[in-house]
Amino acid sequence: MYQCNLERMKDKIKTFSKYGDAGHGGITRYSLSQEAIMARDEFRRRMEKIGAIIEMDDVANVYATLPGSDIDAKRISMGSHADSVKNGGNYDGILGVISAMEVLETVVENNIPHRHPLTAMIWTNEEGSLFPPAMMSSGIVCYNYLPEEIRKNFKYEDMMASQSVLEHEITFGEALKKSGYMGKKENRISPENTMCVFETHIEQGPILEDTGNDIGVVDCVLGMFNYRIKFYGQTTHAGTFPMEKRKDALFAAAQAICYLHEKIDALNIPGLVYTTGEIVCHPCVHTCVPDFVDFSIDARYENSEQLKKVEEVVQSCANKEWAGCRCEVKLAWNRDTVYWDKRLVEYVKKSAEELKIKHQFIHSGAGHDAQFISYMVPTTMIFVQSRGGLSHCEDEYSTPEHCTSGATVMLNAVMKADQDFE
Ligand SMILES: [Zn+2]
Repeated sequence: MYQCNLERMKDKIKTFSKYGDAGHGGITRYSLSQEAIMARDEFRRRMEKIGAIIEMDDVANVYATLPGSDIDAKRISMGSHADSVKNGGNYDGILGVISAMEVLETVVENNIPHRHPLTAMIWTNEEGSLFPPAMMSSGIVCYNYLPEEIRKNFKYEDMMASQSVLEHEITFGEALKKSGYMGKKENRISPENTMCVFETHIEQGPILEDTGNDIGVVDCVLGMFNYRIKFYGQTTHAGTFPMEKRKDALFAAAQAICYLHEKIDALNIPGLVYTTGEIVCHPCVHTCVPDFVDFSIDARYENSEQLKKVEEVVQSCANKEWAGCRCEVKLAWNRDTVYWDKRLVEYVKKSAEELKIKHQFIHSGAGHDAQFISYMVPTTMIFVQSRGGLSHCEDEYSTPEHCTSGATVMLNAVMKADQDFE
């Protein structure tokens, strides 16, 4: 079995945490920002130092490749994203990049023979925090392989025109040109040049910590739906209009949220997760009765039959009167459960077993670039325990030991794929 280097992992974690350091333990590193470019420069420097060949594609994904002994063999790729949400942590995304770098560094240091080229990569704009949507560059690169209902959200021209949420006049396309990392379209990851893909990521949930396991052998990304529920009432003066005549859209929405929780919980589906994470209220003035509210409801579950039952509850909100307001229910988007490649999952499991690293099967509730890639080439993921299950915040933390275990499992799984696969 091969072993990654704890001290080298610590050094990478510390170094990358500087790029976008927000001053209180976390980072803000929007895609294509100065900080994100500095992280790419660091990746490039370190990978060039070990003799990897650096390539960029047309959406600034960066690839560092160690050639293998078989010049005709396709690549085994590893990687994740280097961008963060606003005031995010030092692990989400970048840990997958650091782990991929560590695998390459360990291979070079120990002269580990491999037939396939090994590639560490950075995906551009996974979070979509500055330029929406999330998973943008994997959406562009995997476009032809995505199911139609997902694909329509990732048209190249639309992505290039995506406006910065901070300065509307700046688009993703312009930021890309300025980044210095815009390469050639023919450098994109594809089924022609890549055999399979591994992504290591923090769990972003508390399951591994609660069960005392260090590593998650991820088997799928959960199916999900996202609905928008709209309420139409009437704006009147908050001080002058009698209560019994009001059509308060926010009160209507509040009742509907309680109704949804009550009915969905009554379905008694173990492990189901759902939330209303976004709410828009109009006119949102303290002296006005709201006339319009629009909220989201996002639900995730592996089994589509069960998820369908939840969807029926959501749909049952429509055409009802809620506190005198009309209600509309519309599906924003959904996806089926995406299963990882069974052979790759097995390599990860076997590696963890042989290394005697405590592990378990786990589902991914969050979306990742790997999810889109899996439509194109065989893909799998490895999760690393997250302290307190926290992510997308500055308190996000995984111990260097857990991070190194994740990289070590990936290294050994990659070596199994190198020998067995195709
Ligand atoms: Zn991530």
